[in-house]
Amino acid sequence: MIEKPQYSQPSELNSAAEAGGPRIVAWEITRRCPLACKHCRAGARDHAYSGELTTKECIEVLNSLARFTRPMIIWTGGEPMYRPDIVELVQAAKERNIRSVMAPCGTLVEREALAALQAAGVMACSFSVDGATAASHDAFRGVPGAFANVTRAMRIATEIGMPFQINATVSSLNREELPAIRELAITSGASMLDLFFLVPVGRGKELSDLALSPSATEELLRWLFEMNQAGPIPMRETCSPQAVRIWHQMGRVGAKPSGCMGGKGFVFISHTGILQPCGFLDVPSGDLRAYNFDFKAAYLNSPVFKDLRQTDQFGGGCGGCAFRNDCSGCRARAYAATGDYMAAETSCGIARGGS
Ligand code: SF4
Ligand code: SF4
Repeated sequence: MIEKPQYSQPSELNSAAEAGGPRIVAWEITRRCPLACKHCRAGARDHAYSGELTTKECIEVLNSLARFTRPMIIWTGGEPMYRPDIVELVQAAKERNIRSVMAPCGTLVEREALAALQAAGVMACSFSVDGATAASHDAFRGVPGAFANVTRAMRIATEIGMPFQINATVSSLNREELPAIRELAITSGASMLDLFFLVPVGRGKELSDLALSPSATEELLRWLFEMNQAGPIPMRETCSPQAVRIWHQMGRVGAKPSGCMGGKGFVFISHTGILQPCGFLDVPSGDLRAYNFDFKAAYLNSPVFKDLRQTDQFGGGCGGCAFRNDCSGCRARAYAATGDYMAAETSCGIARGGS
């Protein structure tokens, strides 16, 4: 998953950007996961994965990040709470003035475990809710009881004073349920509802028919902007970067969507220490082990990240689009469709030659 935490201080983000480093790092600290979500980009399973970074190697990464840019880390997976050393790693990040948020699936959340993570430095969590009912959520997540677990996790977070947001992966399966998911987010006390537009990679590739069409995507984004303004809960999108264009075309003011930040302020570290623009774009962009854990060198020398900044080289409608620098199109969708991450985004009507 990709997330844009709301707990960043603008001054800190700016200083990270000035240093040329990422502002946000999503770290797949383990790929192991107890769930079997239909859309999982990693195809994660409930078994140990070989080659995962050791505790010592993770500390090397943290040391290197602290010397470079001190981004916010999103501890993700798989299920980050499966890592036996996760509290130690979060604590080590805090000691290096690196802020932490976490994306647990909810199944392993117990009061004591979440409180320990909070004490170590986790400032907020995100929980994924893809259906408004146990039937629809569990069907999507692939495990009976997942809905009960995630709602219990949200109650525990509330009890211990841990802020949390709800992430919902959007497809035609749950498009009609989104108003009910929004109600659930409001009543559960979430600080934000973030709609993640399905990126059909990994196990999600089988769901490519369920991804919203360009026109349905646009209609939903317009609804999202209206609901965000209406309140009471803030809403935003993730991985529908054409939201930037639609936001401008609607004449909106205030905080604008960020577009795709993959490789441009956002970076993903895989469970084996491979950098990627994001978790959905499975293109190796730097091996931290090969760089002897010099994160800065791996990040700045990456040909892939350099490519992604050449927005006039994008294919289809993206290359000539007036919004390409802010939007960038989803490079993961382009890659999934064509094998070329610089090709046209597939979920935007303009990118595909519309108007
Ligand atoms: S054409 Fe490409 S760059 Fe322009 S809005 Fe669509 S996805 Fe974004
Ligand atoms: S490439 Fe696509 S999936 Fe990855 S961060 Fe950008 S918009 Fe999201």
